[in-house]
Amino acid sequence: MNQLLPWHTAQWETVTSARAAGRLHHALLATGPAGVGKAQFLAALAAWLLCSSPNGDQPCGACRACLQNTAGTHPDCAVLSPDPLERVAFSAYPGQRCQMESSRKKPATVISVDQVRELSTRLVTTAHYGHYKLAVLLPADALNLAAANALLKLLEEPPDNTVFLLLSQRPAFLPATLRSRCQMLRFSAPPTSQARAWLNSDGPAADLALELGGGAPLQAAKLLAQDLETVWNVVCVGLAGLLAGTADPMRLAHDWLKLPQQTLDTALYGWLRRALRNATGAPDAKLGNTFRTPPPQRLQAFASELEDFLRLREHPLSRDLALERLLYPLWVN
Ligand SMILES: [Zn+2]
Repeated sequence: MNQLLPWHTAQWETVTSARAAGRLHHALLATGPAGVGKAQFLAALAAWLLCSSPNGDQPCGACRACLQNTAGTHPDCAVLSPDPLERVAFSAYPGQRCQMESSRKKPATVISVDQVRELSTRLVTTAHYGHYKLAVLLPADALNLAAANALLKLLEEPPDNTVFLLLSQRPAFLPATLRSRCQMLRFSAPPTSQARAWLNSDGPAADLALELGGGAPLQAAKLLAQDLETVWNVVCVGLAGLLAGTADPMRLAHDWLKLPQQTLDTALYGWLRRALRNATGAPDAKLGNTFRTPPPQRLQAFASELEDFLRLREHPLSRDLALERLLYPLWVN
């Protein structure tokens, strides 16, 4: 069964009271930064809406609908996403959650109009168990223009008992007409104390993960699982070495390619943020006594290279060169 995250109670109250009053909106759009649990919230909501005999605002966990949902095989829940992993992650257990999509040779990056048309056909048939039919879009900003227009038609004249659950980190990228058909549920990072409690840690590693993860607990948990503290120390020592002229970009790039990609990206970005803060007159004690702020033009060049580097992250062939290039502005030789 899906667990509701402790900082989601206000949003949960919004939807549960709306359902109790018989005015649950037919399209809910969950927005907010990465790692605050938007997909988990939608998964918990889907489980509750699909359940045949919920206990108040919780699914029973034992009815046929609950068992099928847990197995990811509920026929009334369609998940549209360009990423098969996202579809699996939405379900409590890996399963054939979305039966509509044919397998692809290349990984897709968009939700296509064909996917939305298939959804449309599927939704006009009666709900399998006579309860809600759900269409989940992970994320809704993956809809291309034609797909967004097709979805808009569905939202304008929604089939009976259908609830659309949309997720977006960048709702501004969605057509305004689509946004205006949805009820927005906004999610943000919880207070640090709540995030620490959820991570079950108040040590320096958790604090670092929360700082570099923008305060988002799920993001922090992912970084902790990838040994963020070690990567962070490697990055800080390496960059200090560059600035002191005791390390060189080629060697560092070679060594750093072995580090977990997302954690390295996060550590580099976190270092830049701290260095910029330091350069603008807000000394950061956490950087340690040995930290020397690079001259502004070097820091600026590093910031600009970092932007390119993060853009190239999906191109492994050029990643080593991009990493080396990123480090040159800080190299004192
Ligand atoms: Zn149930």
